Amino acid sequence: MAQVKNKQIVLKNYVNGFPKESDMLIVTSDTINLNLPEGSNAVLVKNLYLSCDPYIRGRMSKTKGSYIDSFTPGSPIEGLGVAKVLESGHSNFKKGDLVWGGTRWEEYSVLNAPETLFKIEQTDVPLSYYTGILGMPGMTAYAGFYEVCSPKKGEYVFVSAASGAVGQLVGQFAKLLGCYVVGSAGTKEKVDLLKNKFGYDEAFNYKEEQDLDAALKRYFPDGIDIYFENVGGKMLDAVLPNMRLNSRISVCGMISQYNQEQGDGVRNLFHIITKSVLMKGFIVTHFYHMYPKYMEMVMPLIKQGKICYIEDIAEGLESAPTALVGLFSGRNVGKQVVVVARE
Ligand code: NAP
Repeated sequence: MAQVKNKQIVLKNYVNGFPKESDMLIVTSDTINLNLPEGSNAVLVKNLYLSCDPYIRGRMSKTKGSYIDSFTPGSPIEGLGVAKVLESGHSNFKKGDLVWGGTRWEEYSVLNAPETLFKIEQTDVPLSYYTGILGMPGMTAYAGFYEVCSPKKGEYVFVSAASGAVGQLVGQFAKLLGCYVVGSAGTKEKVDLLKNKFGYDEAFNYKEEQDLDAALKRYFPDGIDIYFENVGGKMLDAVLPNMRLNSRISVCGMISQYNQEQGDGVRNLFHIITKSVLMKGFIVTHFYHMYPKYMEMVMPLIKQGKICYIEDIAEGLESAPTALVGLFSGRNVGKQVVVVARE
């Protein structure tokens, strides 16, 4: 049996507060058989692209800080990625197939639940897109905007973390529908991208605003119909009094809260009653049955150049800890991808 060294990124210890590069270790001692045992139902894959996603932080806490179980220190980080099948014991897959879905931060993985993987059928787009626009973040933007918000042409839409993996798509979907769209982001470079690349009508740097309520009133003098919530905390509190009658808040994420022991208080909840605001959280996996419908919508938009997608590419598995940590200081510009191998 062919045995090779398998470089891995392993969680060193449970994390408190902001994650650091030193919370993860690069390990090269482990070896892996490049053949599956007889009768195995698993698939053996070579990992190509890994996805850095904010939810991974929750799995680094000892107490279940996420809706998915915590990682085990000493084990490789688990996450989503794009991979090539080297050998398959599962009837859905064969050698040479490209897949996206749950894998681990290592060069080669034996995946024991291959039914959760999606086979990649269309390869005339960058493969890394299956970590972003054609993968989980794309489905998140689609479900969180169209399914949760029931948007209508002409509505006033606000998106926070607006240049990220999810936000950049929400803004573009809203513009394609004919909405007025404003985004917030944490640097001038990102604000420029929002306005000049993604077509947002307006954008502002939330870090430079002394008064978020005043900033929102500047861009939404008549209020907000749809808030796509990615950050939580102070931003949510500022948004609530600016919501219009019968408006909707799609609660996608609250990244400003993920590294805090105790979450920020939100004082303006009363506006949910007076404005009849519908505020709804969601988890993207509950919408995965809609993936084929989403692909039918988004593929032509990509190919006709009606939608664009910005990625932040980190080269090499060794770069994964820095790339992940960077999500929480806004170092990434667009979808954070790690290249392990290019086929
Ligand atoms: P991302 O935007 O690509 O990266 C995270 C961004 O969040 C950073 O670049 C940074 O941008 C911003 N950020 C970090 N700390 C912040 C803080 N304290 N306050 C304000 N902004 C902060 O990430 P993503 O993958 O698109 O995810 C966006 C949100 O969606 C996250 O909350 C994530 O957990 C959530 N999500 C939810 C689901 C679901 O199923 N519900 C699925 C996927 C993602 P700035 O430079 O703009 O600050």
